[in-house]
Amino acid sequence: MQSKNIKAIDASSVHRICSGQVILDPSSALKEVVENAVDAGATKVDVKLKDYGLEVIEVCDNGSGISPGDFELLACKHTTSKLRRFDDLNSLTTFGFRGEALSSLCAICEKVTITTRTANEVIATKLEYDKNGKLRGSSTCAREVGTTVTLDTIFKALPVRYKDFQKNKTREFQRLTRRLQAYAIIHSDVRITCVNQTPKGKASVFSTPGNNSMLDCVTSIYGAKQKDSLTAIELRGEHVTCSGYISKASSGCGLSSGDRQFLYLNKRPVDIPKLSKAINEVYKMYNMHQYPIYFLNIQLSTDTYDVNVTPDKRQIMFHDESRLIEFVKENLRNLFEPSRNNIPSPTAS
Ligand code: ADP
Ligand code: MG
Repeated sequence: MQSKNIKAIDASSVHRICSGQVILDPSSALKEVVENAVDAGATKVDVKLKDYGLEVIEVCDNGSGISPGDFELLACKHTTSKLRRFDDLNSLTTFGFRGEALSSLCAICEKVTITTRTANEVIATKLEYDKNGKLRGSSTCAREVGTTVTLDTIFKALPVRYKDFQKNKTREFQRLTRRLQAYAIIHSDVRITCVNQTPKGKASVFSTPGNNSMLDCVTSIYGAKQKDSLTAIELRGEHVTCSGYISKASSGCGLSSGDRQFLYLNKRPVDIPKLSKAINEVYKMYNMHQYPIYFLNIQLSTDTYDVNVTPDKRQIMFHDESRLIEFVKENLRNLFEPSRNNIPSPTAS
C-alpha cells in the first residue's frame, strides 16, 4: 500500500489562515467595520477603542441595521447583501462586496458581538458568532436603529502578530488613526468620533462635525492652521473629475514629509503610487523643499477600473492610468503656474 502524504487541511485552519490575509492588522479590522457602517447609510459612527484597539474595537452606527432574516448568514464566508454575480463588479458603489470581513474577523478575534435593529423591529438583538462565523447565541436588548459591532482581542488567534502588535502599540495606533481619518475626511457627511480608553482614562482621538464640509473635517483633525494653507480644486475632464484640497504652492504651505496625502477613488481611500509621485513632482516645481498636503477624490466611471486586486481593495487597476496621471499633472501645473511669480529667480539677489 502506497503512503498518502497529501491531505486536506481542516476547514477551520484554512479559514484562520485565509482570514489573516483579509485582516492584516488592527487598522484593517477597523476599516472593514467602518466601511460596513458607511455602506449601511450611517450618518453617525462612533468608534470606541480599548488599549489602542488591541483589547477592544467597537463601532456603533445609526445605519439601516440588519434584518433578523440575515442573522444566520451574516458572518459566514462570502455572504453579502452587496453583490450577486460577477458582472455586478462593474457597477459597484459600496465599499464591500466580497462578503469576507465579518467571517474573517470571527476567525481571528477572541469574540465578535453584533447588536442590531432595523426600523421594522421594536427591539434590538445581540448576536454572538463563533470562530467559523456560525451564530452561537442571541438575546434581545434596547437599542436605537443601527448596528454595534464589538471585536474583542483581535489577533488572539494569530499569536505572532498578536505579540508584534502588543510590542508596537504606538505604530499600530498611528496606522489605525490615519486610516480612520481617511474615511472621516472623505465622508464629511458622516459624523465620526473616536475615543481611546487605557488604564489612565478615556481620551478623545478626534471627532468630525458631519456637516458635509471636507474642509471642516480637515480642520477638526489637523487644526485651524491647516485650513489657510489649502486651496480648493475641481479639475474637470471628459470622463474624469478630481476634486478636493491641495496645499498652496507658496513656501511654508507644504510639509517636510508626505504624511498628509490622501487619494480617493469615488470616495474609496486608495493607493495610486504613480499618481502620488506625479503630484509630488509637480508640486516640487513650485515649492521645491516641501511635499504637498492633499485630499483628492478622483471620480471615474466604475467600469473603468478594477478594485478587486487585493482583499483590502486599496490597489487599483485602471484601464488607462497614464491618461489619468497626465490629466492631473497638466491641470495642477496650470493651477500652480501663477504662483511662479512668487518664486525668487535663482539670479535675483
Ligand atoms: P461585505 O461588506 O463585503 O458584504 P461583510 O462581511 O463586511 O461583507 O458584511 C456582510 C454583510 O453584513 C453585509 O453585506 C451587510 O449586509 C451586513 N452588515 C455588516 N455590517 C453591517 C452594518 N454595520 N449595518 C448593516 N449591515 C451590515
Ligand atoms: Mg464589508
